[in-house]
Amino acid sequence: MFGSMQDWPLTCNKVLDHAARFHKNREIISRSVEGPITRQTYAQTRDRALALAKRLDRYGLRKGDRAATLAWNTVRHMEVWYGLTGIGAVYHTVNPRLFPEQISWIINHAEDRLLFVDLTFVPIVEQIIDQLPLIELVIILTDTGHMPKTSLANCVAYEDWLAESDSDFNWVDVDENDAAGMCYTSGTTGNPKGVVYSHRSNVLHAFQSSLPDMMNLSAKDRVLPVVPLFHANGWALAFSAPLNGATLVLPGALMDGESIYELLSTEKCTFSGAVPTVWLMLIQYMQRNDLYLPDLERVVIGGSACPRSMTKAFRDDYGVEVMHAWGMTELSPIGTICSMKPEYADLEGEAWLDIKETAGHPPFGVEMKIVDDENKELPWNGAAFGRLLVRGPCVTRSYYKLEGEQFVDEEGWFDTGDVATIDEWGYMQITDRSKDVIKSGGEWISSIDLENLAIGHPAVAEAAVIGVKHSKWDERPLLILMLSDEEEATRDEILAYMDGKIAKWWMPDDVVFVDEIPHTATGKIKKVALREQFKDYKLPSDPT
Ligand code: ADP
Repeated sequence: MFGSMQDWPLTCNKVLDHAARFHKNREIISRSVEGPITRQTYAQTRDRALALAKRLDRYGLRKGDRAATLAWNTVRHMEVWYGLTGIGAVYHTVNPRLFPEQISWIINHAEDRLLFVDLTFVPIVEQIIDQLPLIELVIILTDTGHMPKTSLANCVAYEDWLAESDSDFNWVDVDENDAAGMCYTSGTTGNPKGVVYSHRSNVLHAFQSSLPDMMNLSAKDRVLPVVPLFHANGWALAFSAPLNGATLVLPGALMDGESIYELLSTEKCTFSGAVPTVWLMLIQYMQRNDLYLPDLERVVIGGSACPRSMTKAFRDDYGVEVMHAWGMTELSPIGTICSMKPEYADLEGEAWLDIKETAGHPPFGVEMKIVDDENKELPWNGAAFGRLLVRGPCVTRSYYKLEGEQFVDEEGWFDTGDVATIDEWGYMQITDRSKDVIKSGGEWISSIDLENLAIGHPAVAEAAVIGVKHSKWDERPLLILMLSDEEEATRDEILAYMDGKIAKWWMPDDVVFVDEIPHTATGKIKKVALREQFKDYKLPSDPT
């Protein structure tokens, strides 16, 4: 016997329809790549997305066809997402911070037919277009007046292309399990791998991630996603904000502390999301200029561990609640968010920070467990740590063109590649990537814990910990530090600061100071490069 309820496919276009109908005057405010700030309502955005869908259809793009974007967070980029999904085609965000060879590899692997590109990235496309035989047309996200002089043969200004169309069009019917979007993981080892989101997973994920104990989004929110649309499905905000009728404020190409502050402040944003490095720049800018953000209520921080000192600074100095989040491209991407359940509602001071330092608990729809090397499930006591496995309707089961390979076990569990603890109330804390964990004498040391501790020292701007070969213990931790401008500190001062705050055998065996710590294209510390740089490092504690 079936239920009597209607079959109403969960498709991305319905999210925009809802926003345009029930929140029609709410705006998407956008710093254009050309400079000026633009304002456009959800109703206008839907009209333009429909016109784009009609134009794409006339061009001959069909269901399942892919189109790449190399673009910042702007309203045009949003229109492209909804225009493509509205005809059953697939948006494929490409991270412009990758090397040109990686960009062309990814575009060729996805077999993208069209390429939507911001003015900023036209030079990259000019450089690689000869290596992109399948790209038929480059659509530059600007108007005729701002078209650059370019060597690209087949290119058109987005606004001209759109002007050849109108919004008298119906979204093409799609199955909710059809592909809607694509995003490649950065692939620190081997080639990048393409995760394919479906309409259904995008819509479900927008519900899940905006629940009250998750991002708690509402029509009253003014949301500034600093996290780029090209990073892990833009943390779902392009769907969750319109689903809830929240105002969107998009930062375009300018992500420095001053520009982000200006938008947060003038647009009275209540909510924002970004990786820790972005918030570091913002906090430093506000400290230098004695500025505050009275409207900002909460910030989601993820992508890398949010240092305790950052959570504290936001709360004590700015009255902003940090919501530490963990996720990954393969999870659409939100896996957990740290909000306080009743069990922890009364915590204060350091005990409150202890919980805030965890990545929190998952929404309905994300199942989690931790296992040891024999796949035996480990207890949820906040101390045992093991490989973190997840499953759910917004977790990938495979990668594009690798469908024949096994990426989940027989029960559907996906190995995240992260190592974590889980406490009795389901609060999960990442202790490491499994590749980065330091194996000392058969025991594991968390590089993230050591980094978080070191960064609490006032002179330290950034910290990285890697395992270095040791003749007796296999590996021992080496602490690599970048100091803040005009700050000084010695090895012994740093070690003295850490002493007593962690187990003795976790203490780094040595400290080195560097001018810069390398980052990946998604803002994470590039441990592979650091391991290479320090592969012959001789620890003073090593007797040989
Ligand atoms: P990429 O690998 O391309 O940078 P992802 O966003 O998919 O992009 O990276 C996901 C990984 O980032 C996670 O598996 C985890 O290792 C790390 N990560 C994300 N959020 C956190 C967090 N809050 N704390 C620690 N690590 C995190």
